[in-house]
Amino acid sequence: MSGGLYILKIMGEYMKNKSLLVLLISLILFNSCSDKKEIQKAVDSIRAEDLKSNISVLASDEFKGRAPGTDGEAKTIKYLEEQFKKIGVLPGNGKSYLQEISIVKIGTDLQSVKAVVSDKGKNFPMTVPKDFVIGTTRFVENSSLNNSGLIFAGYGIVAPEYNWNDYAGLDVKGKTVVVLVNDPGFATGDKNLFNGKSMTYYGRWTYKFEEAAKQGAAGILIVHETEAAGYPWSVVENSWTGTRVYLDAPDKNFSNCVFNGWITTETAQKLFEMSGIDFNKTALSASQRGFKPVPLSSSISVSFKSRLAYAKSNNVIGVLPGSELKDQYIIYTAHWDHFGVKPNVTQGDSILNGALDNATGVAGVLQLAKAFASLPKTQKRSVVFLAVTGEEAGLLGSDFYAKHPIFPLNKTAAVINMDALNIFGRTKDITLVGYKDSGLDDYAEKIVKENGRYVAPESTPEKGTYFRSDHFSFAKAGVPVLYFAMGVDNAEHGKQWGLDQSAKWLKENYHKPSDEYNPAIWKFDGMVDDLKIIFETGYDLSNTDKFPNWFEGSKFKPARDAMMK
Ligand SMILES: [Zn+2]
Repeated sequence: MSGGLYILKIMGEYMKNKSLLVLLISLILFNSCSDKKEIQKAVDSIRAEDLKSNISVLASDEFKGRAPGTDGEAKTIKYLEEQFKKIGVLPGNGKSYLQEISIVKIGTDLQSVKAVVSDKGKNFPMTVPKDFVIGTTRFVENSSLNNSGLIFAGYGIVAPEYNWNDYAGLDVKGKTVVVLVNDPGFATGDKNLFNGKSMTYYGRWTYKFEEAAKQGAAGILIVHETEAAGYPWSVVENSWTGTRVYLDAPDKNFSNCVFNGWITTETAQKLFEMSGIDFNKTALSASQRGFKPVPLSSSISVSFKSRLAYAKSNNVIGVLPGSELKDQYIIYTAHWDHFGVKPNVTQGDSILNGALDNATGVAGVLQLAKAFASLPKTQKRSVVFLAVTGEEAGLLGSDFYAKHPIFPLNKTAAVINMDALNIFGRTKDITLVGYKDSGLDDYAEKIVKENGRYVAPESTPEKGTYFRSDHFSFAKAGVPVLYFAMGVDNAEHGKQWGLDQSAKWLKENYHKPSDEYNPAIWKFDGMVDDLKIIFETGYDLSNTDKFPNWFEGSKFKPARDAMMK
């Protein structure tokens, strides 16, 4: 650009001369062509071999599933620091590549769990994890609750903008609420109810726990249903029978419920039956306007012990300073953590390697860092590479960063997130989760088109993917985000095949020990294609002085507008 302007200045006085004008135009064209060529070197530096070697290390058994605050973390952050240094990425936090976070690890002692639902002399003792799972977010060793009345509170949602309140006129103090997962829009498919089939934040379990606590409930049980949750019971079981991780909190989380839990659909049916209520019918009515909460005649008594451990975990952060707009930032994010080692496994594989989820995304961040580092001419804005911790525990690392930003959020033009890259081969499309949300989409779309591909919205918006990875922490804080995910329109086998592959993978491997790196099956050509697009999009954003905003009507826009004033 600056070269073109210089030529313009010199040639200005000769502008009337036609042949010189032609020369001028060709000079400018040549100039931008050579720019493109220089970027091309960076683009070509993204290579399958490097991805393979990074992923094979990060997802190896030696890294023990990369759980926050463990030996697996120590290995992971050391490896990432080494890679950053090798690439030439500078420490992102002063002299350090680390942003330390105080965490609390809580694991329910499964042997200690006693839970009985009683109703007029009838007892239903529930067992973990067949009937339900339970835990506390409070930093205490002993949790118990006696004869807490059960109330079915529909979807457990208070959403004024949708004119919806499942807690209206309800006093749940000391009570245990039973709520459905997802939201009424999902259940009915009605486009005018919430966001239709697309899950809103109100559909997420995290929200339901928050709201129940806010309402003063003593306990909450979410009824699991595979379709509505977006994953099978085994996923809930895996997350809740192991150790869960929380950010340290001054109030030791005593503002939260005594216990949080999930029950299976079968358990819900039994509970309702004890009170002479048909669960399926009542659940159906919960998605209709005018639904009133239904008190069950039963109550629950629970007690359990928890193992508590205070620990430190780390976000890993590096930066490649920009040239002219050094104090403005583009941040690439991917979570490095996964679930670690599953306890009480006597047979078979106990290590949750998290190869696809999310060794791929972290390897992607390293490739992008390498691409930016190999640019012959430094990009204008600084580019930050942020591998966050605690995503699997509830977006902890990104949430902490968004609340304690190292680089000011109002100087951060975009956050570009990666979580599970493409291992199924080339696709014609690339997915943008949260497509049509902000002006960042234009940058992505331009590059995708130039690469002869097309942008697709999420194929399964009902799963609430938008709320399930780290970009969401930044969106909540107001920073516009791009979340690239793998496409499904497979270049060789078509779209249905692609959809089937991801559904199959989700069912068989998601959050399971079988999410392992398999060099014999994994394809890297699609992953490399995607990363090139992710690089070029970030590159364009790093060379503009614009701050594309959320579109009008976005719930994240007010926060952005406020910080940009
Ligand atoms: Zn993930």
